[in-house]
Amino acid sequence: MTGRILVVDDVATNRIVLKVKLASACYEVVQATTGRQALQIARAEAPDLILLDVMLPDLDGYAVCRALKSTPETAAIPVVMVTALSDTQARLRGLKAGADDFLTKPLDETLLLARVRSLMRGRGAGPEDSPLPGPRPDAPPVQRIGVIPARPDSGLRLHRALAPHVAARVAVATREEALAASKDQPDLFVIEAAAEAPEEALHTMAELRARPATRHAAMVVLLPPGDEVHVAAALDQGADDALCLPVAPEELGLRLTHRLAIKAAADRRRRDIAEGLRLSVIDPLTGLFNRRYALSHLDAIAERAARTGRAFAVILVDFDHFKQVNDRHGHAAGDAVLAEAALHLRENLRAMDLVARIGGEEFLIVLPDTDLAEAERIADRLRCLVAEHRVTARDGHTVLQATVSMGLAMGGPGAGGCDPATLMDRADRALYAAKAQGRNRLRITPQAEDAA
Ligand code: GH3
Ligand code: MG
Ligand code: MG
Repeated sequence: MTGRILVVDDVATNRIVLKVKLASACYEVVQATTGRQALQIARAEAPDLILLDVMLPDLDGYAVCRALKSTPETAAIPVVMVTALSDTQARLRGLKAGADDFLTKPLDETLLLARVRSLMRGRGAGPEDSPLPGPRPDAPPVQRIGVIPARPDSGLRLHRALAPHVAARVAVATREEALAASKDQPDLFVIEAAAEAPEEALHTMAELRARPATRHAAMVVLLPPGDEVHVAAALDQGADDALCLPVAPEELGLRLTHRLAIKAAADRRRRDIAEGLRLSVIDPLTGLFNRRYALSHLDAIAERAARTGRAFAVILVDFDHFKQVNDRHGHAAGDAVLAEAALHLRENLRAMDLVARIGGEEFLIVLPDTDLAEAERIADRLRCLVAEHRVTARDGHTVLQATVSMGLAMGGPGAGGCDPATLMDRADRALYAAKAQGRNRLRITPQAEDAA
């Protein structure tokens, strides 16, 4: 089954007609005959989509829709209102009640299935649906609508009709202008199709979707009167909405406002995910990469070295007697030492080098494309930098100083091989030797010295 659809209608024949059409496209159909039953099933079974008749014996469809959209468990389920009436007032009432779309009886099967597919694709993308709860930045940025008219004169007309009905800024652009711009692009495009060549609007949409600057914009296609074939095609090709003209400006305004809310939520989700990814690889105390990231990055560097044949250095760094630093000056002072040392390491390495905090007071440095002599020079310079650095404690008087020991292993086809675990193990043994020989020093693995 590709999805579960709740069909709400008090007339059995209507339900059966819909059920047959939907079942032929392999959707599972659940039925309700009254508004109250619909609300109860929607909550209990969480369908993927609801087809809701306007005329019901108890609550009317608008009231059911409002109730669904104001209940957290059901708010994100797309609702398509099915109505015998095709008048604008009914549609406006439905949109205001939160309906995602409309279908008028008798149902056109192609259009019905195209709408269903389109809404199924976008499910879970409701405006209120965000995976990370929590405070939102105060004022959302002003959103923008770009109108791409079929002809210059209709651009002006669309602009005038739309502007009073949306909070977003509306601007008209030609197809070429919209495709050429690489930044500051609208959040939503309204693409008007020309009666003589409606498929051009679909090409424009595909071109916009293929460009990084406009990939995430919402797309609404306006088609000539009665061109339901291209409405279905537009929805199937990824339009967020597609409508035949004429559309009442207020209805269009409500539809675009709904799309913009979904777009804003998707933008927030993308930002949340990017921030979540960043937090999952960054150590909060030092701002360096964490162990998890470091080890996978080391794998990547080793793989690349195996291909290029160039050597790379793996350096383990461990603070000396760090327990004493904490015991004497407190944990917070110890933290300050670690954070400042991290800054030194980062500032004194190349962008391509990896620096990570892989344990409490342990760091990993990987230098790609680096031979032993250079790695030794770099490591020793870093060691001296840490030893010479003075950290002033929070009392403003106590001056702390710390040293590190280092173990260096060389990797690469010609030097030590490319197995990350082996190299980490060798670097660790070299580090142990540095500790044993008095600390505040760099030790190099015998394998690296032999190969050099
Ligand atoms: P050695 O020279 O042998 O490495 O001595 P050491 O004291 O550094 O070694 P040990 O591994 O026994 O102790 C590590 C210490 O590092 C103990 C722990 O309190 C401290 N430490 C680990 N993580 C942190 C941290 O995030 N902040 C602070 N302030 N101290 C930490
Ligand atoms: Mg340690
Ligand atoms: Mg230590």
